[in-house]
Amino acid sequence: MNQKVTVIGAGRMGSALAAALYKRGFNTTVWNRTSSKTESLSRLGLRVAPSLLEAIDNAEIVIVNVNNYESTNQLVRQPAIESALHCKVLVQLSSGTPDEAREMESWARPRGIDYLDGAIVNYPVDIGKPQGTVLYSGSDELFNRLKPVLLAFGDNALFVGKEIGQAAATDIACLSFCMGALVGFLQGYIVYDAENLPAGGYLQVVKTLMPAMEAALADLCEKIKTKDYGNTQAALETWAVAPRELIAWCEKHGVNHTFSDPQLGLIGRAVKAGKGHWDFAYLYEVLKQGAD
Ligand code: NAP
Repeated sequence: MNQKVTVIGAGRMGSALAAALYKRGFNTTVWNRTSSKTESLSRLGLRVAPSLLEAIDNAEIVIVNVNNYESTNQLVRQPAIESALHCKVLVQLSSGTPDEAREMESWARPRGIDYLDGAIVNYPVDIGKPQGTVLYSGSDELFNRLKPVLLAFGDNALFVGKEIGQAAATDIACLSFCMGALVGFLQGYIVYDAENLPAGGYLQVVKTLMPAMEAALADLCEKIKTKDYGNTQAALETWAVAPRELIAWCEKHGVNHTFSDPQLGLIGRAVKAGKGHWDFAYLYEVLKQGAD
């Protein structure tokens, strides 16, 4: 546990990462552009480096968690910092695109920096707890070497692929799912509230849907794999009722329905193509066709 780890960035997430490493017994240093944000970490016992260069000099493993790759690039693409990173490990945990990860690896490799890309898929409060989940891609050998350190962030240090952009790609895919579900939940909350139903009751009902949702997701995967879209329990024409009714309800109550409009539009495209009697999974093909 004497490995020296530095965390660059002490925002909401960076602070959680640094604290988790320290609590696991790693020799942890932190640096943040705005030094006042490191005060609580300093009180906890972490070493706060006075400069970025000293933070990197003091570490074998450097973990970056700032707002994005652009800021990371501004920080690390300076001659003195590049020299300090030579022969060290750099783990990028700021959110970004697969191409940004690829670009970062192309920068790191010729400079003798061992680079692993990662993406965090939960809240700071989950970091350091069993549910903590971080996706990684790049060299599997490097991932396995770092795993004892990465497990400080939670039990789910998940290696998703050897191609460096694959953690960011998985993150984008998961965020697509989460954003859709969360915005949908908020839209439903408005209905519940306006119809004078108890708010806690909504959550209870949604929770009971979860096992069926899990089964429905598995069914979608199977149908996409086999392209078996004709076999269905609920045709797209039947599904169209849901956004149509919700849009009508929103119009009556003066509520925004820009979340539901594209859902009806996607189904409309399938119907127009003569596939209204096909399964919901067919929307995968509609989405792949691009915009109208
Ligand atoms: P945050 O609280 O807003 O912190 C942002 C961090 O980025 C701060 O340390 C900030 O430094 C630093 N920063 C911004 N611009 C910079 C620049 N030009 N140069 C140097 N440092 C700069 O954000 P956060 O929630 O911790 O998120 C950090 C990363 O984690 C993001 O990529 C985010 O997508 C990812 N993430 C967050 C969550 C979450 O729930 N919060 C979940 C998954 C992934 P200053 O303090 O000096 O401004």
